Amino acid sequence: MERAVLVRSLSCSSASVNRLFFRSYHRLSRSTPSSPFPPHHKRLLPNVSRRSALRHHWRRISPSPSPSPFYLKRYFSSLSPRAVSTPSHASPPEIGGSQDEVAEKLGFAKISEQMIEECKSKAVLYKHKKTGAEVMSVSNDDENKVFGIVFRTPPKDSMGIPHILEHSVLCGSRKYPLKEPFVELLKGSLHTFLNAFTYPDRTCYPVASTNTKDFYNLVDVYLDAVLFPKCVEDLQTFQQEGWHYELDNPSEDISFKGVVFNEMKGVYSQPDNILGRMAQQAMFPDNTYGVDSGGDPRVIPQLTFEEFKDFHRKYYHPSNARIWFYGDDDPNERLRILSEYLDSFDANLASEASKVESQKLFSEPVRIVEKYPAGEGSDLKKKHMVCLNWLLSDKPLGLETELALGFLDHLMLGTPAAPLRRILLESGLGDAIVGGGVEDELLQPQFSIGLKGVSEEDIQKVEELVMNTLKKLADEGFDPEAVEASMNTIEFSLRENNTGSFPRGLSLMLRSLGKWIYDMDPFEPLKYEKPLQSLKAKLAEVGSKAVFSPLIEKFILNNPHRVTVEMQPDPEKASRDEAAEREILEKVKASMTEEDLAELARATHELRLKQETPDPPEVLRSVPCLSLHDIPKKPIHVPTEIGEIGGVKVLQHDLFTNDVLYTEVVFNMSSLKQELLPLVPLFCQSLLEMGTKDMDFVQLNQLIGRKTGGISVYPLTSSKRGSEDPCSHIIVRGKAMAGRAEDLFNLVNCILQDVQFTDQQRFKQFVCQSKARMENRLRGSGHGIAAARMDAKLNVAGWVAEQMGGISYLEFLRTLEEKVDQDWNGISSSLEEIRISLLSRQDCLVNMTGDGKILTNSEKFLSKFVDLLPVKQPSKTNSWDARLSPVNEAIVVPTQVNYVGKAANIYETGYQLSGSAYVISKYIGNTWLWDRVRVSGGAYGGFCDFDTHSGVFSYLSYRDPNLLKTLGVYDGTVDFLRELEMDDDTLTKAIIGTIGDVDSYQLPDAKGYSSLLRYLLGVTEEERQQRREEILSTSLKDFKDFADAIEAVKEKGVVVAVASPDDVAAANEERNNFFEVKKAL
Ligand SMILES: [Zn+2]
Repeated sequence: MERAVLVRSLSCSSASVNRLFFRSYHRLSRSTPSSPFPPHHKRLLPNVSRRSALRHHWRRISPSPSPSPFYLKRYFSSLSPRAVSTPSHASPPEIGGSQDEVAEKLGFAKISEQMIEECKSKAVLYKHKKTGAEVMSVSNDDENKVFGIVFRTPPKDSMGIPHILEHSVLCGSRKYPLKEPFVELLKGSLHTFLNAFTYPDRTCYPVASTNTKDFYNLVDVYLDAVLFPKCVEDLQTFQQEGWHYELDNPSEDISFKGVVFNEMKGVYSQPDNILGRMAQQAMFPDNTYGVDSGGDPRVIPQLTFEEFKDFHRKYYHPSNARIWFYGDDDPNERLRILSEYLDSFDANLASEASKVESQKLFSEPVRIVEKYPAGEGSDLKKKHMVCLNWLLSDKPLGLETELALGFLDHLMLGTPAAPLRRILLESGLGDAIVGGGVEDELLQPQFSIGLKGVSEEDIQKVEELVMNTLKKLADEGFDPEAVEASMNTIEFSLRENNTGSFPRGLSLMLRSLGKWIYDMDPFEPLKYEKPLQSLKAKLAEVGSKAVFSPLIEKFILNNPHRVTVEMQPDPEKASRDEAAEREILEKVKASMTEEDLAELARATHELRLKQETPDPPEVLRSVPCLSLHDIPKKPIHVPTEIGEIGGVKVLQHDLFTNDVLYTEVVFNMSSLKQELLPLVPLFCQSLLEMGTKDMDFVQLNQLIGRKTGGISVYPLTSSKRGSEDPCSHIIVRGKAMAGRAEDLFNLVNCILQDVQFTDQQRFKQFVCQSKARMENRLRGSGHGIAAARMDAKLNVAGWVAEQMGGISYLEFLRTLEEKVDQDWNGISSSLEEIRISLLSRQDCLVNMTGDGKILTNSEKFLSKFVDLLPVKQPSKTNSWDARLSPVNEAIVVPTQVNYVGKAANIYETGYQLSGSAYVISKYIGNTWLWDRVRVSGGAYGGFCDFDTHSGVFSYLSYRDPNLLKTLGVYDGTVDFLRELEMDDDTLTKAIIGTIGDVDSYQLPDAKGYSSLLRYLLGVTEEERQQRREEILSTSLKDFKDFADAIEAVKEKGVVVAVASPDDVAAANEERNNFFEVKKAL
């Protein structure tokens, strides 16, 4: 979804920013190590975004506010569709005979029907009689409707067939014979979710929308795409999305191109990903998980078009499909739509052929060593990684056991205070955790844990420490307070059911599939209440030790199916891989005759011509679209009352939140000294993880876990339109059940005022973790790093943000690591200085979201909190006047693919903001950049971003095989706009798609948060209305006029690329030292 997200980030001046921050708030939930197992590959970029990535330091949270959709996956993640979003009085649709009759008439047999209290839904499982397709139809009053069709697609090799198919079926179908119906939907629908995922054993195609007409349009396009795609007859789609040889001119070198090929090159450049893949393949040598469904770039070019077509024929068949519907639409209509598609198929044996066999357990542990690409000349001493992995069982586990394992995972690793996590980090043996703990998305559950940033001689110590700690936990059990904190966190998240920007129905679907896809009961994972209560009763009865110790012993300590993966840095690996690829290509070229080469050059041109030729308008019209009449004329209203308590401004949003209070306490950062800025993220982490005089940090964390739904602290920085000074704040964000409002405010006060900055060793860990995280981001989200760097050259807010999250921050951390040992007192007093300059009643603002009664009841606790804040002399604002030098920069990292950016401030050219800019930016991203950077350029993504607060318009690419060529595409945007011709349908689509972004679906806490950000950034309701009208009345002339504005980017834009050393050297040779080179890894 990333691409849409990024486009969206510029699509509405305020709500967009909000949504991004909101999203990251949820991402951070997984404050535990990120999973080493790439569970799936997405058609669009992963959910990282430049602004959220930078300005919001989401990881500082303790304990996690709510497990993310992938956290304790099957049970604790998500879920009751309406528990929060809508008042709970409407009853679910009636269970009546008529529906059954309709189903029967349409060819569906009812298998089972159940009420799911946990999500206030009626769920009916059908089987399509003719083909055997299974359909789960879930009805409730959630307006955010979800559809998904899922096929079991276990690969036999690592050529990436499932992944390439996932990309390709969305490139045109029987009813929608255009190049990419998927892109048309991105452009012109109101979707709240649109993407596709490849797992190791299944491929999912989900869509969501709150508009019923739009929803059925999306469903129809997706069904036609998966069942009747053009790609199985079209070699060129396979070449474009999979792989092909490219040769512009017979005298030049041949190269490999292909979207998936480059996407996977990017994946294989990230050490964490390599580690996860190695571990999975070594743990499952005998079944389908032993190969890579995403595709190994060294193997992808062995794939033939025949094999690709065969795979589709075999597995993309109704007999092998599981179909999900969810929401408040008519359940009969769902079956009617399906029968039209399914009836044209006969049953086949795909469902037998696609069964996933289980891996037998080993009798002996296994150990593997692998190299990963490290930067040349970088310090390799502390760059090893080691991870221990267990396959927990070869038989399905009972529901209660699975639940208990999930709970155990949270206890051991779920928060910074969790013992396994804490002990590993405190050991000083490594910089950060690797391994995702318990993983239960595949047929058999696994457990993995380890460290990165380890010295070679410490590898064995890490292994011993993991084993000894697990043994100690089994012997001694867990602290009762920790158990209570975990239980509260889990129950809170179930009750809150906050899936962030992820539709609730999709979260439920993925959960149900965890069993359904293996022919087990699809209802079971939706019904957590009973097993949870019985686990709770058992804990109360026999104590936590009697519950958890046997699990640790049986599944981990005494389990011989253990795979230890050690990863060694290899500075020559990247260039060796490149050389190997070049050698293959040279051989290919040498084996070709002159005629062959001429033919290849011809085919290359033909493919590019096809890619760059737009679809004819009549074909584009085949994709259904809403009309402007379907679009509300007013922006989404968020009730906001602005008042004052004890001299502090308070914003209140009266929204139904199912008895949860959400609050943000905001402090203005502008009185901070400039040189303290890079310390701010670590200051925020210290507030939550350092402890007070009376409580060590473990106790403080447990207290937060027991009393609240989570507290996080992070800086937020943005430009403000019309102002030189940045908008720069530190936000303390928290949530609790209404009855705990007093505890929540007490705890916020405690972390702000009582935390002591005295724990040198812990602080050093924070520095190491942050460094490891930044290094990981540099490889995985280089576009975010490049964007931050460009912003830092163009405005003060960008500079501030880069100090706290960009390359400058990484450099600061590297120096700080030594300084902690030499001058801890100095650092400690700097942290204190930040606190003193920050905490002041005058510079404070509070935001609260909840229903009226909760808000009123909370006021007295807020008032007490405010009274405790110091009153200071009106603080003088420090003017931070700094920017990075505006030279073109290449940040060199060991990677096989690049991230290329170019940006300029278009307000400086006199451009006046109009809502049409959102429409136009989105359009550029979905047409010109998509076609040239992704489709014909072979990058995974290309997009543009207009920050309406600062005026910075930027282009970015993601996992891009090109460098200078991509810059040429960016510069071509001006002419693209000037020469643009557009019929009314296309324009309407562009407008509707933009409104879809602006109005994207938000849960109540996100609405309240969005409103806060609008307030901080000075975006008024009048302005929102005005922008909306400008969006709705966008004309072709606006596009042409916009070309003049972005000409500034072409003419004087600054360029930053995160790129491979070879590509940078070549570019500097070609363009006379175009880049100033900076080595970062
Ligand atoms: Zn992909």
